[in-house]
Amino acid sequence: MSSQSAATLIPQLQGEVKGRVIGPEDADYDDARTVFPGGIDRRPAAIVRVADATDISRIVTLAGQSGFELAVRSGGHSTAGHGVTDGGVVIDLAEMRALDIDVDGRTAWAETGLTAVEYSSAAAKHGLATGFGDTGSVGIGGITLGGGIGYLVRKYGLTVDDLLAVDIVTADGHLVRADAESHPDLFWAVRGGGGNFGVATRFQFRLHPVDTIVGGMLLLPATPQTIQSFIAEAEAAPLELSTIANVMPAPPMPFVPAEHHGQLAILALMCFAGPPEAGERAMAPFRALATPMVDMLRPMPYPEIYPPDEGGYHPMSAVRTMFIDSVDSTTAKSIVENLQASSAMMAVAQLRVLGGAMAQVSPDATAFAHRNRRIMATLAGVYMQPDEAPKHEEWVSRFAAALRDGEPAAAYVNFLGDEGEERVRQAYPGSTWDRLRAVKEQYDPTNLFRLNQNIPPAGAGS
Ligand SMILES: Cc1cc2nc3c(=O)[nH]c(=O)nc-3n(C[C@H](O)[C@H](O)[C@H](O)COP(=O)(O)OP(=O)(O)OC[C@H]3O[C@@H](n4cnc5c(N)ncnc54)[C@H](O)[C@@H]3O)c2cc1C
Repeated sequence: MSSQSAATLIPQLQGEVKGRVIGPEDADYDDARTVFPGGIDRRPAAIVRVADATDISRIVTLAGQSGFELAVRSGGHSTAGHGVTDGGVVIDLAEMRALDIDVDGRTAWAETGLTAVEYSSAAAKHGLATGFGDTGSVGIGGITLGGGIGYLVRKYGLTVDDLLAVDIVTADGHLVRADAESHPDLFWAVRGGGGNFGVATRFQFRLHPVDTIVGGMLLLPATPQTIQSFIAEAEAAPLELSTIANVMPAPPMPFVPAEHHGQLAILALMCFAGPPEAGERAMAPFRALATPMVDMLRPMPYPEIYPPDEGGYHPMSAVRTMFIDSVDSTTAKSIVENLQASSAMMAVAQLRVLGGAMAQVSPDATAFAHRNRRIMATLAGVYMQPDEAPKHEEWVSRFAAALRDGEPAAAYVNFLGDEGEERVRQAYPGSTWDRLRAVKEQYDPTNLFRLNQNIPPAGAGS
């Protein structure tokens, strides 16, 4: 965009929308352009804290006419930094956080600026929950549109499995409702296809009775044997139990005894959504794997699974997302060796055993098609200096290749970085990619929504 059009854009936007328009001259511009991942230094022409769907519709229409790049931001956690644009306009949903819970009907309409912890805390007042991810500050916008894998995945499935309807502003500026009956193709696509099809203004979710859970953190020493056994126990566990095993050096946190700091550990986050006595029984095999370094598992109200976030923490990371189907002794040994070979400030292999309710949905029922994969692995090297990027990228690529061991590559779209179209395709196996491209052609033929893990419209050629 030329500097002249950038200068006229702010008054133009101010004339069009009710929400606040933040530009480079504003004192909080730097704050407003900051997203969760570090190393992202983009300068949008404007950030608009939209007030409602009409604001969104006007900005989308303007973008269609003027051609400026649009970023759509809910919680700002996109690993690739897609929540902010260089020179374009950010639609920031942070002020759209209305939540309307129908307790008897066990459903909720939620505006997409809410975070996972805000939604979960409000729903918990009624003993209800919808599953999101492992981090409270993640926006419900991004996580839902990509699938949503979290603490209730084995019991209740993905976040999208609880999505009943979405209100969405499409590229032509119209607000439409997509659900099983109305715009079913669009409804299929938004359940995993990310931000490619429009700006979701609100979601209708199903809620489940989830009150006191048994869970929290268990820190165990990590050896090839404990890693392999942990995964075996997680697969054998009742579906009420979802686990996230972070194999990483024990962090130097106050709750970790000093003698363990830096030792390779399984930092396990566990959530049993069922009766407390059964939860205690389900934890026993994990506690028995080795003498725990820290055992903080306990009955707790569900939202306490989301501890407060560290504000101002913006790490850079070299990340690879993948799915694997087993962790045998060779894989477990490779995990230990690769983590020990990293020079990152923190290196982690996160293993999430899937299955259960997530696998009971057909792979073609939603755009999230990895329904039959048994384990999601996410590998990351976290660092603070931008010039370190190449060595950690190289390390993570080697680690991913070793873990994949010749299997075709696969990706969870919500954990992809800026890795190119081939990797986006790996998020959408089988016929999913072509079907998504056809829906994109129908709803966004000019690829207005392109600052995302992009699915090109079918008409754009291959
Ligand atoms: C610390 C951390 C922990 C995580 N843990 C998990 C986890 O446990 N499980 C899991 O599944 N994922 C997890 N994720 C990944 C997370 O789901 C994605 O990064 C997600 O995209 C973040 O959503 P957001 O709204 O916060 O991000 P944003 O950067 O605001 O949005 C990401 C993208 O989503 C799209 N988008 C967001 N809102 C809308 C909207 N209303 N309409 C249209 N498009 C929209 C846009 O394309 C945008 O670029 C985690 C990420 C981080 C950084």
